[in-house]
Amino acid sequence: MEKTPHIALIPSPGMGHLIPLVEFAKRLNNHHNISSTFIIPNDGPLSISQLVFLDTLPNGLNYLLLPPVNFDDLPPTTRIETRISLMVTRSLDSLREAIKSLIVETNMVAVFVDLFGTDAFDVAIELGVPHYLFFPSTAMSLSFSFYLPKLDQMVSCEYRDLPEPVQIPGCIPVHGKDLIDPVQDRKNDAYKWMLHNAKRYMMAEGIVVNTFKELESGALKALLEDEPGKPRVYPVGPMIQTGSCSDAEGLDCLRWLDGQPCGSVLFVSFGSGGTLSTNQLNELAMGLELSEQRFLWVVRRPNDQPNATFFDSHGQKNPLGFLPKGFLERTHDKGLVVPSWAPQAQILGHSSTGGFLTHCGWNSVLETVVHGVPVITWPLYAEQKMNALYLTEGLKVGLRPVVGENGIVGRSEIARVVRGLLEGEEGKAIRSRIGDLKDAAANVLGEDGCSTKTLEQLASKLKHKS
Ligand code: UDP
Repeated sequence: MEKTPHIALIPSPGMGHLIPLVEFAKRLNNHHNISSTFIIPNDGPLSISQLVFLDTLPNGLNYLLLPPVNFDDLPPTTRIETRISLMVTRSLDSLREAIKSLIVETNMVAVFVDLFGTDAFDVAIELGVPHYLFFPSTAMSLSFSFYLPKLDQMVSCEYRDLPEPVQIPGCIPVHGKDLIDPVQDRKNDAYKWMLHNAKRYMMAEGIVVNTFKELESGALKALLEDEPGKPRVYPVGPMIQTGSCSDAEGLDCLRWLDGQPCGSVLFVSFGSGGTLSTNQLNELAMGLELSEQRFLWVVRRPNDQPNATFFDSHGQKNPLGFLPKGFLERTHDKGLVVPSWAPQAQILGHSSTGGFLTHCGWNSVLETVVHGVPVITWPLYAEQKMNALYLTEGLKVGLRPVVGENGIVGRSEIARVVRGLLEGEEGKAIRSRIGDLKDAAANVLGEDGCSTKTLEQLASKLKHKS
């Protein structure tokens, strides 16, 4: 009897990359009988959140850790995108051995790499395995990635100094300063890695992107246009975290929400890696208090680097100690503050949640769309400024607080947008628009929905190894 088709998936570090890739693998396994192995490059022990997540993978999904790479030669200022790309590049020998073993043990039909891992394509090509890109972000960022090599040729200055916005094919105009982080300094290695990977996207046999037509119609239209040599793009989203919450702190959050009025709570979270400066953390606390609205806030230890906990979101000691004096006591009847991590997908799906103050990581955006929760946008790093712009000016499903001249969003501005979202007329209109997107998301994932059909076509292609 022929063995079950099997794929290898190579995630970049960070929960925001791992979560959608696992959801993708679950769908291929549950609906198309394609099993998978996650091959995980790393530079040392994984974070607790990653380990807990990987240890609960369902049957049919396995993982193996590659030997850690050494980063002793990298200066401490090395950017995340450089580290992630190098993690894959420096793992190619061990990756080759891992894939060779899988070829012997399983019916290997494809290798999927994510956005910074395209050097792994070379190993797949060498071993004769079809190779795909899994893009865990927006169609807009993917369209930008295809456009970047052209922009790089056309423009010699920093993109943030361009007088006119950049016109990414199919997308709303974006000012250079709002483009993704790694292109903000063209002399930095992170830019070179971004460009290197973006150029190699053309080598993929197909690109899976976690989005859907009604959410990103313009960008997807541009991406789906036939062009010689351009890989086929498969929009199969929204794929969001599924499963239940079992840890005690998470259950406490959900129980607290059970006791709050319907649609009354603002959930405040900056993803798996986002952190605020001490001043900003202070203003946010005071702004939430001033708004007099209910809130559930995942608090991290302040840090001047906005992605300080990207590699280790659970590893923090007592972040609540950094909140303003007396804040917890003054707000205890209105708010719940939890350290470091909360069951976000379940919180957004809870009927008491009425708004989401989010850093606009793409998984967070998809989760809020699936549950129809309107947002306050608070972008921090990566492609989040582009996402925030699209949510507020493209889809009009969010409010964006105005940043003060000192680079900080002040308490009264925070209170204004929180009240506006939960109580104001603008909030109502936004709620209705995101409700439409929620319905569209449910439709595309239905039996005859676009995303279901697209995944079917991909699965069939994988099974025929083309
Ligand atoms: N997440 C969570 N609890 C937290 C913080 C994050 O479950 O306290 C999950 C969140 O639901 C999402 C992912 O981690 O699925 C974060 O991904 P996103 O793309 O939003 O942001 P990133 O962490 O990559 O910046």
